[in-house]
Formats: sequence, structure tokens, C-alpha cells
Amino acid sequence: MGRSGLEASLEPWLSGVSGGQLVERDRRTGRYRVVSEQPPIPGRDVRLHVDAALQRQLERILDEAVERAGGRGGAAVLLGARTGAVRVLASSPRFEIDRIGAAYRRWRDDPRAPLVHRAIAAQLPPGSTVKPIMVLAALAQGGLVLDGAPVRGDRRFVCRGYLYNRHAFQCHARYGHGPLTLAEALERSCNIPFYRIGEALGPEALATWYRRFGFGRRSGIDLPGERPGLVPTPRWKSRRLEAARSAERRARTRLLAALRAGGGPWRGAPWRARLGAGSRWDALQRAARRWRQAARWAARCEEDGGWRKGDSRNAAIGQGNVLATPLQLAVFAAALANGGRLVRPEVAGLRLEASAHRAPELALEPAGLAVVREGMRLVTSGAHGTARPSVLRRADTAIDEATIALWRHAYAKTGTAQAGAVSHAWIVGWLPAPAAGDEPLAFCVLVEGIASGGGGSVAGPVAARMLRLAVAREGAP
Ligand SMILES: [Zn+2]
Repeated sequence: MGRSGLEASLEPWLSGVSGGQLVERDRRTGRYRVVSEQPPIPGRDVRLHVDAALQRQLERILDEAVERAGGRGGAAVLLGARTGAVRVLASSPRFEIDRIGAAYRRWRDDPRAPLVHRAIAAQLPPGSTVKPIMVLAALAQGGLVLDGAPVRGDRRFVCRGYLYNRHAFQCHARYGHGPLTLAEALERSCNIPFYRIGEALGPEALATWYRRFGFGRRSGIDLPGERPGLVPTPRWKSRRLEAARSAERRARTRLLAALRAGGGPWRGAPWRARLGAGSRWDALQRAARRWRQAARWAARCEEDGGWRKGDSRNAAIGQGNVLATPLQLAVFAAALANGGRLVRPEVAGLRLEASAHRAPELALEPAGLAVVREGMRLVTSGAHGTARPSVLRRADTAIDEATIALWRHAYAKTGTAQAGAVSHAWIVGWLPAPAAGDEPLAFCVLVEGIASGGGGSVAGPVAARMLRLAVAREGAP
């Protein structure tokens, strides 16, 4: 865990105000005199919500899962779904603060980015973990109208393996899932109903629904370095294109300046011979490289064009340009668990009374929430659930029966987000409160940059172990 980060943001609380004197030196006599005096204020006791022992266990489990999957890194978050109290905030790989002086350069240049606390700063496509949002959107206000009829919980969508034709907008089941209700579509993580819902909602409604659940902005956790993720809109897309075009223009101007500084441009000239091997040659090389990069990016944005229906379909399955952090997804899962309040996650017990209980009410409709819960229950215990016990056992043979038994009580949604040649394995969800006075535990696990496997098999076992260890630490079953 980022001790550096926590200590930095808690500094005023931990140390108190050190007190002191404002002293003035008389230039003529050379004597000092006290202008004002501030008595010291004792530091407050900070009660950490983070369970240090649990945190260390999770770091180890996460490291192992990342290594087993051949991933680049990972994160695990566990928080109280009503208070936002953060119990675990683990990131892999990590840096050690006491070795940072000697190892800083190595860590900074490590492609696995150990200096980034992934739980709050990894911004990645969330994939299918966000499908519950689409269920809520489709069932809100009497139901989204599709093919002339409002969507309801018992409506069946037929999956043939693709949306309109075989070549685009596929489902991961090559020959299709057949007819499915929305809850069953969550269970198997079928894409087809969600493409339809995204298309019908359109970009503005999609963005509004994402933002309601806290995506696209920082959660306000009491740690520095949190990133906001991204909720794309047509406006964002056109701004991105403008920015890419002007970056390309600037890079081109700089390249031309570097050419002129070298006495050029000469047609078909042997540049290196003319410029010599020194810094002018290096500067030209650099300018050319930057321009090529900028031009490639501008061409990609140009080709991507304005907002299309495909962007809405992708946004509905957490792909395309949607980006989220593991912490945001844990907060989202907490909102589903607590009936629709967006908690502000907290590592230290300073603001708990003040803010966590004032969490904004999302006014989710019970019908939609019931379908989401049914679907997320099927994910862990249904015959086709993407994180059903047999999937976890196959992936992690060391997982014990007590862990599996507890897992059957959990609600979850998996995600396997495509990102070029690799994918990211996600799982989000919650465990209901074991007793009346307790709160549900919301979780999110990420394993980033894997070549094979998915949310259920790669991130699922980590989540199940985390819940088991957390419950064991409370002395419950
Ligand atoms: Zn399907």
C-alpha cells in the first residue's frame, strides 16, 4: 500500500501543528525578538480502516495471481458498502518507500509501473463489469423502448453470437447464447442485449448513467494520486480530434525548424552526413520521431471520426474509450449493495461521521435493482455463472471449500476487457452483511495485461480469498 501517499495526506493530522515562533532579527543590533508565538496543538489519533494484516495477505495473493496469469500488475479493493471504510487497497507490483532513493530510476522505467498505486490510479476499460448499469438504465422509468416495446425483467433477447452480422459486435459465445433475460445475460456476460441498450440510450444518456455511479471523476478518497477515469461523449471525441490535429501541427512546425537549423531542407539529401553525428542530428531525429507519433495519433482520431452507433455499443459493454479505476468500480459495487448510495471511500477514520453518511442517493428503481441482484447472484452460483465455483476451483486448485461456500453467498460481475493484444481481468461485487449490525463488503479485483483467461478465472479466486480472509478476521464463519 502507498505508505508515502497516506502519510502525505494525513501529515497535518498525524503530527498536529508543531507550534513555533515568528522571530525577527534587528539588523542594527543583531538581536532577535519574538513577534508572535503559536502554542503547539497535539496530533489526533488516526484510526485506520485499512486492516494491515489483511492488506499484506492480499498483496501476496495478488502478486501470485498476477504472476500465474502472466499479467503486468493488479489491484484489490475491499470496502464497507455503507460507510466507504477501506479495508484493503492493494496494488501489485509495489515499490518500497525506504528503498526509493536507490531504486527510483529502475522503478520509474519498469514497464510494469510499480510506482503507480493501481487501485486508485490505473485507468483501464472496465469491460463487462459495468453491464449492471445498463440493466438499471434499460429498466428505469417504465422501461427503455426497444423494437416498439418497453424492456422488462422477463424480456428475452436472442444471442446468435453477433449483433447484426458476423463481422462486427460479436458475443464471446461464437455460436450464440440463444434467448436470455437480462439477469441471465449478466450471468453469462452475453454482449448482445447490452449493445442494443447502448444503441438505444445514445451517448448522452450513457454518459449520464455512468456519471451517476461516480465514473469520470475522482471518488474523493483521502489519498493523493487518484485518477478520474473517463466517460466519453461526442464533445470529448471532437475535442480529442482538435487536440490531436493541433499537436500534429506543432510537431510539424518544430520539425521544419529543426530542418532549417540544419541548413535544409535538401531534397533526397544524406542528412546524417550533412549534419554530422552531433546534437543537430539528434535534435532532428527527435523532432521527426515526435512528428511521426503525433501524425499517427491524429490520423487515428480522424479515422475514428465523430460519435457513431458503434461507440454507444462499445460504451455499453465497458469498452471503447470508457476508463475506470479499481476504486471507482468498488464504489459502484457498494452502491449496488447498499441500494443506491454513492459512498466516499476513506482510508483513515477522520471524516467518517462527517461525510460518508451523507452519500448522494441515486434513487435506483427497485425493479431494476432486483434484476441486477438476481443476475449478479447467478454469476457466483448459477449453472452458467462466469465466476461459478467450478471456474474458481479449476483456476486455483488450492482454494478451499470454506472459501467456495462463502463465495456462493457473494454477488459479482466479471469483466474481460480487450486492450490491443492483451486483456484485463476484472471482478466486482459484494458479500452481504453477515449480521444485522454489519455492513456488506464491496470488492473489486483487477489483473492487468493478461494474454489468456478472464475475469472469473483470473480475478475471481483473488476476490473469493479476500472475502474469506476478511470474514475470518471478524471471527464470523
Ligand atoms: Zn451472447
